[in-house]
Amino acid sequence: AVLERIAQVEPDLNAYVTVDGDRAMEQAGRVQRRIESGELTGPLAGVPVAIKDNLCTKDLKTTCSSRILENFVPTYTAYAVQKLEEAGAVILGKTNMDEFAMGSTTETSYFGQTRNPWNRDHVPGGSSGGSCAAVAAGECFLALGSDTGGSIRQPSSFCGVTGIKPTYGTVSRWGLIAYGSSLDQVGPVAGNISDCAAALEAISGHDPRDSTSMDRKDCDFTAALQDDVRGLRVGLPRDYFGEGLDPEVRKAVLDAAQALREKGALVEEFDLGLVEYAIPAYYVIASAEASSNLSRFDGVKYGYRTPDYEDLHSMYKRTRSEGFGPEVKRRIMLGSFVLSSGYYDAYYLKALRTKALIKAEFDKAFKRFDVILGPTAPGTAPLLGSSLSDPLKMYLGDIYTISANLAGLPAVSLPCGLDSKGLPIGVQLTGDCFKEKEIIRAAYAYE
Ligand code: GLN
Repeated sequence: AVLERIAQVEPDLNAYVTVDGDRAMEQAGRVQRRIESGELTGPLAGVPVAIKDNLCTKDLKTTCSSRILENFVPTYTAYAVQKLEEAGAVILGKTNMDEFAMGSTTETSYFGQTRNPWNRDHVPGGSSGGSCAAVAAGECFLALGSDTGGSIRQPSSFCGVTGIKPTYGTVSRWGLIAYGSSLDQVGPVAGNISDCAAALEAISGHDPRDSTSMDRKDCDFTAALQDDVRGLRVGLPRDYFGEGLDPEVRKAVLDAAQALREKGALVEEFDLGLVEYAIPAYYVIASAEASSNLSRFDGVKYGYRTPDYEDLHSMYKRTRSEGFGPEVKRRIMLGSFVLSSGYYDAYYLKALRTKALIKAEFDKAFKRFDVILGPTAPGTAPLLGSSLSDPLKMYLGDIYTISANLAGLPAVSLPCGLDSKGLPIGVQLTGDCFKEKEIIRAAYAYE
């Protein structure tokens, strides 16, 4: 049924880069046998899922929505995907994204833009726009995304679905094509918080192949699905409700806070410091790490190679010039600049210090509060074609999401209403490190 749905809506939406129905049906057959034999009993057994195209899948093309990886077929499967498969999920295909996860609209994809299922003239958000649009359109029941600076939460908000970025280190990054390694986390997108909790429970766990992955004993996230927020301390950062926030978004998000208050949560405003420094710090750090991570795409080992070159240097140069799109090149140049001698201290080191100060502000806030509630994004989904001409403006749209990445915190976006154009609005709940259960509990009570 899901494959039929894909065939029906994909020509319009373009949420997938690759759909492999034969592979999915074969896998479904194997899963069915494991269910019948009693081997598979968990909630993900037989669930059709979609995977963002920056997570490696053995024998299934993984492009990062880039020309440079247009025909790349990995020889191994990412940890998070492997865990889903072990739990009995059936993989339908790979979802569209901003090239190398750089962007907020899914318009920087080499394979064409994805459209928002709620209104096809609008973007689905990004960079995990394909995953979120696929869930919203019923083209899968669950998807994986990645979140370096809001890429799970912002498109979840634009597409009216639920998405979690876990605490840094909760899900192994093995097999996730790296963007900003100190910020990247894999997480689930689904129709509600219960499905997200079940998926996150399945994909978390220690993996020796990612030295930053942690051995947590508290990943039974579904245990937090209890409709009880009495006494939960919820903080509303005043800075998140000021200038630049769409009034309709403000109202819907404050209504969500009120709904939690009525259920017994203690909701209070406070001042979160340094909010205006998050964007500059993020774009310096993420670009620096990207410039280093993307140096491996040189046309030698895998991916695209220019057909036309004289020597090794011209092969590198033409391969990368032809293989990467403009946003990726912009970040590689910015990253190389802030890492170059003479500028390293002034930009990169300063951004790292800023990151530490932002984390300290959150540490202070979490002494008073269990959960921080605010908007996921300053507005709803923009029109297609209206964002790419002004990258700085697009970067400003990340204001509420990226601090969770800088501070390593878990955060979830869930739907909290529609604006007057009928586009979804998202509310974001952020927790202290390792406190996914607090935000899951609040999200479940709100739903
Ligand atoms: N908008 C952010 C960026 O362009 C999203 C990054 C992400 O989370 N992958 O960098």
